[in-house]
Amino acid sequence: MNDDYYLWGVSFYCPVCGRSQIPAEEMTGMFPNYICKNCEKKEREMKKLAILNTSIITAEGDYSLRQISLEQAQKLAQENEILSAVGHQSTADILTEILGVPVPLNRIVFEQELGQKALVFKLNGRPPEGKILSRAEIEQIGYKFQLLTREG
Ligand SMILES: [Zn+2]
Repeated sequence: MNDDYYLWGVSFYCPVCGRSQIPAEEMTGMFPNYICKNCEKKEREMKKLAILNTSIITAEGDYSLRQISLEQAQKLAQENEILSAVGHQSTADILTEILGVPVPLNRIVFEQELGQKALVFKLNGRPPEGKILSRAEIEQIGYKFQLLTREG
């Protein structure tokens, strides 16, 4: 047992990252489950539902990928905090419309965390190179949603 843990206002131990000697102001949580703010932020990010416009594996690990219905995709998007990794404005706009929640344009280097779910939007065909598709054209090509979960 780490003594730091019990010294109020002196320093704390974070059981998630294993850091010790952490000042009280860098800790968060409810007794006795204190963790450092870095870990808390990471855990919050991890719970976000990522939105991807391709089924891409972004970090090493074990994944499951399964097709879900539009209704399931909408429900997931509406019930979770979203982390968009959609790098095209037209796709972001169309996903916003289809899912019924704001899906912002977000050019990030996404790394899927352990346990994190990603909602994948996938066209059934390949659009012409460089072509910006309208909603009608996307409906015509057809699309599906997949749930990509990092399990290990
Ligand atoms: Zn920590």
